[in-house]
Amino acid sequence: MTTVAEIVANDLCVGCGLCEAVSEGRARMVMTPDGSLRPTPVDAFSAPEEAKIIASCPGVVAEARSAPHLPLDPVWGHHGTMRYAWAANPSVRFEAATAGVLTTLGQYLLHSQMAAFVFHTGADPAQPMRSRWVISETPEEVQANTGSRYGPTAPLAGIELALERNEPFAVIAKPCDLGALHRLSSLDPRIDRLVVARLAMVCGGQSRLSKSRLLLEELGVDESEVSMFRYRGHGNPGPTRVETSGGEVFEIGYLQMWEDEGTWDVETRCKICPDALGEASDVAVADVWPGGAPTGEDEGFSGIIVRSDYGESLVERAHRDGCLVLGETISPRDFDDMQPHQVRKKVALAARYEGLADAGVHPITTRGLRVAELGDRLTPGEYTTQRNGAAARIKRARA
Ligand SMILES: Cc1cc2nc3c(=O)[nH]c(=O)nc-3n(C[C@H](O)[C@H](O)[C@H](O)COP(=O)(O)OP(=O)(O)OC[C@H]3O[C@@H](n4cnc5c(N)ncnc54)[C@H](O)[C@@H]3O)c2cc1C
Ligand code: SF4
Ligand code: SF4
Repeated sequence: MTTVAEIVANDLCVGCGLCEAVSEGRARMVMTPDGSLRPTPVDAFSAPEEAKIIASCPGVVAEARSAPHLPLDPVWGHHGTMRYAWAANPSVRFEAATAGVLTTLGQYLLHSQMAAFVFHTGADPAQPMRSRWVISETPEEVQANTGSRYGPTAPLAGIELALERNEPFAVIAKPCDLGALHRLSSLDPRIDRLVVARLAMVCGGQSRLSKSRLLLEELGVDESEVSMFRYRGHGNPGPTRVETSGGEVFEIGYLQMWEDEGTWDVETRCKICPDALGEASDVAVADVWPGGAPTGEDEGFSGIIVRSDYGESLVERAHRDGCLVLGETISPRDFDDMQPHQVRKKVALAARYEGLADAGVHPITTRGLRVAELGDRLTPGEYTTQRNGAAARIKRARA
């Protein structure tokens, strides 16, 4: 793919926001009627800007950054320590999406003065159902932006402003955001100089805003009345909670919120995501429910996957200084059981990429993500089903 217009037309944009940063705001991330953030207008770029975007865009390319000297698992990639972990601070553990590991590591980097700020994502105070990038300079601010934002976010829209501060900082983001950052680092040396830690959540997909709108519709609430929208947290997983300016409070259980996959409306890029396990991070953090779904509430347990020597030393130090609690080790096959949807997607990718090509769309170029090797695990029948399904999906998305 050679233009942003083409990426958007093929629905391979995931709305990471890089287009806004690279164009210095000439292309803004605008919500489409379907509830996706897309660069607008799509032709606002100079030729060098567009070349930079094409070299880094998650809709075009994905590349692992993990250290090749670490043990390699075909599904989970290069990894160091894999263990249960949770925040030592009970309020962080309770408020966070799962167990507060990402929040804790961000806070630790500030406390220990390894980072001047954390660049991440939080609720938009003006429209609390929506999300925006955020810079947190204190541990309290990091905690105020704890939790998962399941709707559209465009974290990289703010990356230029973060880099311009010329101070060391940590990034907490989705795997595709960190993948774009990694690709961009070969063109922008400030990234490797200033980004001291890259922390990812393992990610099953980003829903369009339609998912959140549907919930409001069911509750009979207009978005203009929403004063707080929390997708999960305050427990693990904790309920989805909506508060209104009129004082109403609604809570929906996690399983009820996500029981009907037909309503998830995740981005097309997510269905062909080759890097959802955070292979461009220093540490990736995952849910650890056996079988892949919660059976009730618990105190909060995460699984960490260390991806680099730096990630290893960060986890070790945060543990030694009493901020992070480490539990038993987890094997890659344990992770398979806890993330069966990730394994299914990973082995289906080669077939889905052929389906894209069948539909005339250039599939994502992957480096170091073992797509072809894992594709061999499908039977011929499964391969054909995945291939045809992907071709049909992309044709529908383009229409
Ligand atoms: C869209 C999405 C899909 C997910 N799918 C899976 C999955 O399939 N399997 C799984 O194991 N886990 C998944 N998670 C991750 C899970 O919900 C937890 O976030 C993760 O386990 C880390 O928990 P934690 O308590 O350490 O995070 P916390 O301490 O709560 O920290 C979360 C951090 O992530 C940042 N953040 C939140 N939402 C976003 C976003 N949309 N984009 C960028 N940054 C964000 C916040 O700013 C915060 O710093 C998903 C998360 C998201 C946002
Ligand atoms: S760089 Fe990001 S915002 Fe731009 S087209 Fe690609 S995914 Fe979309
Ligand atoms: S599934 Fe992949 S593309 Fe979709 S939001 Fe998650 S990391 Fe990004």
